[in-house]
Amino acid sequence: MYDVIVIGAGTAGMSSALYSARGGMHTLVLEKQSYGGQIVVSPEVENYPGIAKTSGFAFAQGLYEQMLQLGVEYKSEGVTEVVLQKKGFLVTTEERQYEAKSVIVATGLTKRKLQLPLEETLTGHGISYCATCDGAFFRKKQVGVNGGGNTALEDALFLSQYCEKVFLIHRREEFRGEQFLVEQLKQCKNVEFLMPYKVVELAGTQQLKGIVLEQTVTGEKSSLQLDGLFVAIGQIPENQIVAGLVELDEGGYIVAGEDTVTSVAGLYAAGDCRTKEVRQLTTAAADGAIAGVHAIRYVKELDYSYIE
Ligand code: NAP
Repeated sequence: MYDVIVIGAGTAGMSSALYSARGGMHTLVLEKQSYGGQIVVSPEVENYPGIAKTSGFAFAQGLYEQMLQLGVEYKSEGVTEVVLQKKGFLVTTEERQYEAKSVIVATGLTKRKLQLPLEETLTGHGISYCATCDGAFFRKKQVGVNGGGNTALEDALFLSQYCEKVFLIHRREEFRGEQFLVEQLKQCKNVEFLMPYKVVELAGTQQLKGIVLEQTVTGEKSSLQLDGLFVAIGQIPENQIVAGLVELDEGGYIVAGEDTVTSVAGLYAAGDCRTKEVRQLTTAAADGAIAGVHAIRYVKELDYSYIE
């Protein structure tokens, strides 16, 4: 039986494993894809305290090597189910089953994609899913923000401080996000609302050059030159594997506060998969540290002697 199993090898998961292993816990990390999580697609990271500039890949690689050096076991296996047992948890992967006294869920989320050709190629080369991470790279440039929720509205406000021009592109005439943000945006001279429009094509080979928009009522198409497009059309948490076990909110996020404590004793949620206001690299690492410390305490205090 492992002391701690961490599900997901993004920044939150690897940080929690690092803390757990340093705390003397026999720790296993399970990851269905390659390690690193969302940050690996960021070509430049310059908002992590103490690291002036690095690439997302280099950051993830460093964290991966660090956790292995500290004795963490890593397996590239996708978890399919987590079940609570009399003694700890049973974690099932596509290949086998593992037991653990404590589980840290750090499964992250995926940003909803436009599902357009070239989207993957141009991600990190003009297309971004995180304005706070990448906005500064578009200083004095012309950008678009796609979406009508709070994320898109906040992104547009944030970018209006850096960019020469911000086009807010939304598929309906009304925003899903809050009205006070809309009012703030209306005051910004460099923000233009493009509604009701959807993005139907991306232009550029190595770098985004522009987009094609379609007016959703008339079907009329038009081109728009852009240096950057921030896609903010929703997020999908990856919590299906614990959906029957732990409390989720209506959006599918694991209900947990800054202490990463969930509705199930011994199961912690770290990083973007939990209810959370600020989803950043630093907050993912912080969650990892907190979840790791909690798991260590939980395992040390465990007493199975009452179970025959
Ligand atoms: P969201 O509220 O789900 O909004 C997604 C937006 O993207 C909607 O306007 C939707 O359009 C649009 N959309 C969805 N699929 C699309 C597609 N395929 N093509 C074009 N547009 C598409 O997502 P979010 O803005 O990321 O916010 C997620 C949650 O976090 C929300 O509960 C939000 O309130 C919360 N949040 C809170 C804060 C804050 O409190 N400061 C900040 C950010 C986010 P329709 O409206 O037409 O469906």
